[in-house]
Amino acid sequence: MTEERRFRDPVLADRIAEKIRSVAPKNDIIKICHVCGTHEWTISHYGIRSLLPKNVEVIAGPGCPVCIVPAAEIDEAVNLALKGVTIACFGDVLRVPGSEISLLDAKARGADVTVVYSAMDAVRMAKRNPGKDLVFFAIGFETTVPSTAVEVIKKPPKNFSFLISHRLIPPAMEFMLGIGDLHIDAFIAPGHVSTIIGLEPYEIFPKVYRMPTIIAGFEPLDILIAIYMALKQISERKAILENEYKRAVTWNGNIKAKALINRTFRVVNGAWRGLGRLPDSALKLIDDFIEYDAREKYGIKIERGRDILPGCQCHLVIIGKIKPTECPLFMKACTPQKPIGSCMVSSEGTCRIWARNMPL
Ligand code: SF4
Repeated sequence: MTEERRFRDPVLADRIAEKIRSVAPKNDIIKICHVCGTHEWTISHYGIRSLLPKNVEVIAGPGCPVCIVPAAEIDEAVNLALKGVTIACFGDVLRVPGSEISLLDAKARGADVTVVYSAMDAVRMAKRNPGKDLVFFAIGFETTVPSTAVEVIKKPPKNFSFLISHRLIPPAMEFMLGIGDLHIDAFIAPGHVSTIIGLEPYEIFPKVYRMPTIIAGFEPLDILIAIYMALKQISERKAILENEYKRAVTWNGNIKAKALINRTFRVVNGAWRGLGRLPDSALKLIDDFIEYDAREKYGIKIERGRDILPGCQCHLVIIGKIKPTECPLFMKACTPQKPIGSCMVSSEGTCRIWARNMPL
């Protein structure tokens, strides 16, 4: 049996679900929060919530890197595009709403907005078109930051710069714990991010917040096992950091990738769509590379944008406060074909995932 199939084995899944039922507290409502679009996809696609006792809820935190890009940063990209700068971005970003229009709308108005698969693609494009000013809209969590950092260090051509919109996951988890009426009982931390940052940045959660924290992979059994580990800690009144995803995540993470990040970026406060500014949650190029910072190069910095359109509940979906189905626009005015909020745009957005996995 391949590793992938092993982690999708329905017989094993049933056995783990049984163990979950045996260890779960019987009366209290338990809320386990994950912070990863891919975790949400696996949970929804494989119907993992249906295997859990009724009092155990798994909620989706701010784990979709596209959904949390604030409107002001989309506005910066739109602004540049409408001024004649070529914007290179990931496909998911195109339809994310800005305060007034998206990058796709800007493209429809004649702006040069092009989809790339990586920062490297964008740099190549700039080299092929030396007469064009090109900006790569760099979004994503710790997982994608190293690929931006590599291109920064290689010193791209003069007609190239970065609009940095990278964000960091542990500060967002800390923010979640400050939301008074959410009452999270345990975290499932994202496997991809953890392959880069390792386990150490999560130590604060059990040590300071007494929060069971489990790093988990992305197959259905990874997530079921992580839920079991979290519930076991809760039932034993423990709060420790555990690694379910040992086949990919080590204590130190990816040392080379972390060194690249530290060589190119410093940590700053950053706005998250619908959540406001979170301390130490974003990255900015260090002064040595400031010539590649599009905000400095073009003198753009938009501080405020309209993150949430009337009726949209993305600010509540992003923190797991409500389910997508509790938004009155879900699958009525807001659909994957015609998204209104950012959570319906990306394949990692909770609303879009729920829309795609709803029973017919
Ligand atoms: S259904 Fe649409 S409008 Fe409602 S929260 Fe989700 S993305 Fe926002």
